[in-house]
Amino acid sequence: MRPARAYIGIGSNLDDPIRQVRRAFQALNGILASGCVAQSPLYRTAPVGGPPGQPDYINAVAALDTGLTPQQLLMALRTLELAQGRTRTVRWAARTLDLDVLLYDRLTSDDPRLTLPHPRLHERAFVLYPLRDIAPNLDIPGRGPLIELLARCPPQAIVRLDSAD
Ligand code: AMP
Repeated sequence: MRPARAYIGIGSNLDDPIRQVRRAFQALNGILASGCVAQSPLYRTAPVGGPPGQPDYINAVAALDTGLTPQQLLMALRTLELAQGRTRTVRWAARTLDLDVLLYDRLTSDDPRLTLPHPRLHERAFVLYPLRDIAPNLDIPGRGPLIELLARCPPQAIVRLDSAD
């Protein structure tokens, strides 16, 4: 069967976030029946929501070809989060690693356990910029062309890092 193309949002703002995100890229490549086909540059972004005083985030996006179902993929991401020391405390609090399924082919789902496309994807600069770097022509089911979402996105402090950072 043809693999699905999934896009994974990666974020970290604890314990050397740049290293956490690089480790996550490697770990994604190790997911069963899956391979990482593109990695975005890293971005440093101001926290959105959550408790005040959080450190900045490092964000990136990976494209993954996968033979897993969306639910199996989400389970695999949870395992990687735990392996990188994530503990779930306050919603939107600082975390060593957050992995989200942004898209899974053109599948749509309003299941709260796995909503597709990711419900906040279209309004988050820290997702849309790295996504554009690796998939500029993407059309988001139910939302429209990525490039138009980017033009309408609320302003957010976001800086692209050099690969040497
Ligand atoms: P978070 O704390 O941001 O990692 O949110 C995780 C919660 O969101 C879990 O309960 C997931 O089941 C749920 N969820 C719903 N849709 C998605 C998605 N597309 N990707 C990741 N988690 C999702």
